Amino acid sequence: MPDNNNPEIGKRPRRCVTTARWLLPTPIPLPGQRDDKNDSAKQCHGALQIGRRSRDLNPNAIRTAFTRMVHPHRASVAIAVPYLPSPHVPLYDGRVFNYDLRTSDTQTSARLGTFSTPHGPIDLPAFMTIGTRGAVRGVTPAQLREAGCQVLLANTYHLALRPGADIVQHHGGLPRFMSWNGPILTDSGGYQVFSLADLREIDDAGVTFRSHLDGQIIRLDPQRSIEIQNALGADIIMAFDQCVRLPATPDDLESSVARTIRWADASKRAHRRDDQALFGIVQGGLDFNLRARCLQALRDIDFPGYALGGLAVGESPDQMYDFLRQFTPTMPHDRPRYLMGVGRPIDILRAVASGIDLFDCVLPTRNGRNASAFTDARTLKLRNEQFKLSHDPLEAGCPCYTCQNFPRGYLRHLFLVGEMLGPILVSIHNIAYYQRLMSRIRSAIAAGRLADLLREFEEKTPSPDPEESQCSSPD
Ligand SMILES: [Zn+2]
Repeated sequence: MPDNNNPEIGKRPRRCVTTARWLLPTPIPLPGQRDDKNDSAKQCHGALQIGRRSRDLNPNAIRTAFTRMVHPHRASVAIAVPYLPSPHVPLYDGRVFNYDLRTSDTQTSARLGTFSTPHGPIDLPAFMTIGTRGAVRGVTPAQLREAGCQVLLANTYHLALRPGADIVQHHGGLPRFMSWNGPILTDSGGYQVFSLADLREIDDAGVTFRSHLDGQIIRLDPQRSIEIQNALGADIIMAFDQCVRLPATPDDLESSVARTIRWADASKRAHRRDDQALFGIVQGGLDFNLRARCLQALRDIDFPGYALGGLAVGESPDQMYDFLRQFTPTMPHDRPRYLMGVGRPIDILRAVASGIDLFDCVLPTRNGRNASAFTDARTLKLRNEQFKLSHDPLEAGCPCYTCQNFPRGYLRHLFLVGEMLGPILVSIHNIAYYQRLMSRIRSAIAAGRLADLLREFEEKTPSPDPEESQCSSPD
């Protein structure tokens, strides 16, 4: 770890530099010392010295140094966050984005690992809760943490339209803007353009479209997408790609792959921040050879992570599973693998068994707002008369705030009278349900029991309700 290279660790700060106070808003007294101005000033000075050296340091080392300096006996307390003076100043070296494969399942292709980012590690396999416009609707960051979330996804297209990347940048980037002190991923904006915007004109250099908000003509290309994502400041950003709805003609798939490769190269050339990991996106529909060609081209460009785009966009679930089973094991073993926009619980389990590490989907929050609660046994439609007199929580044994405090009968009442608390509480439960599912998946991989967990879900999963299982439609 770069900790060993940090000359400030273990050293006592020397003298006061009051301008360092922004790094430590609430100085904490060192154990056994008086909490006087002198001690606070010493801590501030030490923090500033480390802050000045932060260009050469892993942010975890910076955080560790702060923690040891101001609170030597509580190593896990996060006292300070890495300071980002400008989004274009490189603060972190490439070592911070490290995929650590802890174990592989013997019966399936599942992997258990960790991906390090400047805002903390992500335990994989992981599910990213979606905060489309820089907020998970109705749920605070503290509630997201309590529900078990480690990483969020925000949409570049929406944030570029409102409030604008420059406004987010002005507020210190997305993590500060939305007060989420954990990893964030932004998409490239390309998929949202394809699914939301009117009047799309696609050429070899990019896409021209009308904003779905005010009809304004906007141009998005790899350079602009990366420029916006650099300004937004998420830990993981995505290359600009062309997604094609399935079924598609071989010619359409071929041309989308050619553009995706060209745009991936342009995205990497445009990328300016080494504290952000730029992932490449593999396209090619269900054509194994075309996907393999796209993956090889992206590996030649070299990305710290690879995503599969253009799935769950019209093909049947079985077609997608067959493809994933064959293709995922051919992806690099030392990089995270992200399946974009797929996320019913059974889809996640089957994809994990194929070797996928990272997921996102609007289902937990969108279904939560529509009075639909996930449980292991079935999906509960809370407006249903049968819950009118129910004292039961949404799911027995669920530790979430909603299940610990509110019965189904009360939640049904909230939806029937249109109280905003209803969507909030069911969203909290659904988010916690998904995070618990991922935790169970990780435990099952560690214990070599993923095949058993998958079988358990396959036996009880009813045929999908098309309206409630579409991840790909907008949040
Ligand atoms: Zn719950």
